[in-house]
Amino acid sequence: MEEKRSKPALEEALEEHHELIQVENNLARLFMDDTCPAFKVWIEEGCISCQVCQDIAPQVFRVEDGEDCVVLADAARHFGPLREEIEQAVEDCPVEVIKIE
Ligand code: SF4
Repeated sequence: MEEKRSKPALEEALEEHHELIQVENNLARLFMDDTCPAFKVWIEEGCISCQVCQDIAPQVFRVEDGEDCVVLADAARHFGPLREEIEQAVEDCPVEVIKIE
């Protein structure tokens, strides 16, 4: 059986390996960009599937019909070049569930 790790341990693994980690407790997905290691993008619970973020940055956000928005698995390579668009999506999300740091 797979051992559960604490959130700090997951974040440490993220920093060490720059790998996709799915955080189970809030359904958030964190991604680390190799070229911009301080930039993370994730979606918290409460998405209303309005597709605003996908319209702004389709390389980063995907909203299937009736599903919550997800950050695409290969989105990290766009975090640097599309930082302005991602910040615009954060600003325009009507329920403020897109988070970056
Ligand atoms: S803009 Fe916000 S509410 Fe709309 S699809 Fe994107 S994450 Fe969901």
